[in-house]
Amino acid sequence: MNNDALFSFAEETDPPSLHSDLNSEWVILSVEDDPGYQQSLSLGLKGLIVNNAPIRLLTASSAAQAAKVIAENDNISVILLDVVMEHDDAGLFLVNTIRNVIGNELVRIVLLTGQPGLAPRFDTMRDFDVDEYWNKVDLTAEKLRSVVTSNVKTWDSLHELAVAKRGLQMIVDASRSITARQEIHSFSDTVLQEITRIIEVEESGGVACIHYPQSMSVNYSPIVAASGEFAQRKATSLNELLGTLDKEETQQLHHCIECAVTEQEHQFNGQWTVLYFSTQDLDNRRYLIIVKSVAALQISHITLLMVFSQNIGNGFTNLALLNKLTTLAYYDTKLAIPNRNWLERELQTTSQTERRNLVLLLFRVNDYFTSEIILGSEFMQAMMTSLFDRLRCEVGSHQAIVRLDEDCLAILVAKSNVPNKSTLQAMSEQVLVLSGIEHRTQLSIANLDMGLVAGEDAEQAIRLAEATLHEANRDGQSVGYYSAHLLHSLENRFTLLKHLRDAISNKGQLKVYYQPKFDLHTGRICGAEALVRWQYDDQTLLPPDKFIALAETSGLITQIDTQVMETVFDDLDNLQSLNCALPISFNVSNLDLLTPDFITALENRLSTSKLTSSLLEIEITETQAMQNYQTVTKVLSKLVGMGVTVSIDDFGTGYSSLAHFTKLAATVLKVDRSFVAQLEGNEKDSALAVIKMVKTFAEQFGAIVVAEGIETENQRDILTTNGYHVGQGFLFSKPIPFHQFRSLLIESHSG
Ligand code: C2E
Ligand code: MG
Ligand code: MG
Repeated sequence: MNNDALFSFAEETDPPSLHSDLNSEWVILSVEDDPGYQQSLSLGLKGLIVNNAPIRLLTASSAAQAAKVIAENDNISVILLDVVMEHDDAGLFLVNTIRNVIGNELVRIVLLTGQPGLAPRFDTMRDFDVDEYWNKVDLTAEKLRSVVTSNVKTWDSLHELAVAKRGLQMIVDASRSITARQEIHSFSDTVLQEITRIIEVEESGGVACIHYPQSMSVNYSPIVAASGEFAQRKATSLNELLGTLDKEETQQLHHCIECAVTEQEHQFNGQWTVLYFSTQDLDNRRYLIIVKSVAALQISHITLLMVFSQNIGNGFTNLALLNKLTTLAYYDTKLAIPNRNWLERELQTTSQTERRNLVLLLFRVNDYFTSEIILGSEFMQAMMTSLFDRLRCEVGSHQAIVRLDEDCLAILVAKSNVPNKSTLQAMSEQVLVLSGIEHRTQLSIANLDMGLVAGEDAEQAIRLAEATLHEANRDGQSVGYYSAHLLHSLENRFTLLKHLRDAISNKGQLKVYYQPKFDLHTGRICGAEALVRWQYDDQTLLPPDKFIALAETSGLITQIDTQVMETVFDDLDNLQSLNCALPISFNVSNLDLLTPDFITALENRLSTSKLTSSLLEIEITETQAMQNYQTVTKVLSKLVGMGVTVSIDDFGTGYSSLAHFTKLAATVLKVDRSFVAQLEGNEKDSALAVIKMVKTFAEQFGAIVVAEGIETENQRDILTTNGYHVGQGFLFSKPIPFHQFRSLLIESHSG
């Protein structure tokens, strides 16, 4: 070998490779049984620098010895391998061992032979996984250095790729394990574990902490997870952690943290790594992950951490979004208090024993939504806030106040702290001060002793409290107490409702009866009122007061009234064909008038029928006509315009504003039967006054009066004396089936 040919390669400007950072030298193995040639190889490689790192040459003098060295050193980049050693193909045999037994696919193998005939170059390159094949005589010192240099570089690139591939696989695995975590502590714990795995820093460890930018200093950030030696320090804030470090470490770490927060970037500073994440846009939080490693991180580790950090960042963002969703799901954002879902969850997780000791109070603002239309939703929110403050003080010690609905607050309170009935009664009348102005607010209150519904799940318990509220409202009470009886009547109503639905779809179960109206002077029939009955079973004919209210609250009323209206048309057609048709009235609910379908059905029937519209009369109770007054007035005017008579039923019971009345399109006032009944009762004077007043009032705006519920001749006489011409009542006839009514008409016509 010509030593003169040895020279140092010029400094290269290649970027530092992952490997050059990993190792400060390149390990080369020369396998050669000829000590002389071994020596010349050593000399030839002496002083060789590749990518700023020197060569360290390991030697082996036999294939067996080489196999051992290779197995023990996985950082060998190039093997210079003599073919002929212990036996003729010892070198080739070793190639197989390296590739297939040891499993090292990366190491570059350069075969060297002094006897080319024993292993022809082409066949060997084809059959064995070697990278180069040289005749020893052709390998000058210069060539040797260039062969080693190029193979070291190739190995470096391949190794870098392999490391990156392994690292990426680790990141994929790590990312998979962090995405499953939905809670900050377990998420941070997993992140720390995965970082430890990726950069192999088990001896030290790391912490994750939350930094709220508005807090005075980052040092106050609470620690949410810790691993390795930091876990043992049991610090709860960054400050505490810094306190456990020595002075120099504290300074280094403090500096790193400051840089991370100011530059909003990850910091890799010697032993300290500080990763910076921000979810400020979502929840005003920043996260710091601090890792201490035994030595400064290698570039490969930093690269991996940077990639993994993308996923950590996404993880923190997802957590923030999830938290937001949770907040939306469990809190009322307007009042910033828990909501129905929260209460359900709370009750579900409360033990039966604890539940037995609790009472759920509901406070619903009456007519909330009507007020909202008039006063606006902002005002109503302010009202709910003010109510919340008031109830919090008045109920005193309680477990929770929850916004159950827009218009309803719920309070969970221990039995011993529940206000008594009269206090609750007093609480139902609130005077809330909003923007300095007093507002009277009526509340409906329900009291549900959780012990009484121990067998029910949370959702059902809340529903029962609401049902209690509803029942109290129906009965005109401001405070309702849940009782087993309520559940029973609810169940009955539920069954009845189910059957009512069936009755509506099985036509024929709803029967229309007719109660004739009489001319009080002549005693002749002058019309009739259609009244619905429900043929519940063979024996039972249910009167309307058993099911009309239920139909109204469950939205079935319009279907019933449409059926009655259709029957009235059919029956009137029948009477018309017999030449004895008289005006027939039928009852409508205000919900019918608000349903375009009902009015359209009525219009269609009128336009296709030969009947004159004056044969039709609708009756709506005074109370219902006054609800949704504006809309109802318009519909009534339209009906009057079509020639249909409009009667205000049960007149005198509704305490309506007379001003409203004068604008209501009504042609008949039906004085309520309670006044007629009272004409012979204890309060006959005031009943008589009402009878007279209604008559005077009707005259003033051109309506006629009808009296209902006339049971005695005396009542009839008083009514006729006071100007009443038309009436109905048991004195003349009870409501009867159509065929009987028809017979009556035919009879009266022939009479
Ligand atoms: P309403 O429209 O005021 O009907 C008069 C009620 O008084 C009828 O009760 C009738 O049977 C009863 N009545 C008639 N004469 C006398 C009497 O001399 N003495 C007594 N004590 N009662 C008498 P009914 O049929 O039980 O109807 C009750 C209420 O149910 C009706 O009061 C009406 O508001 C409602 N209703 C009846 N049918 C329908 C319907 O098809 N649709 C709607 N929406 N409501 C209906
Ligand atoms: Mg009526
Ligand atoms: Mg009536």
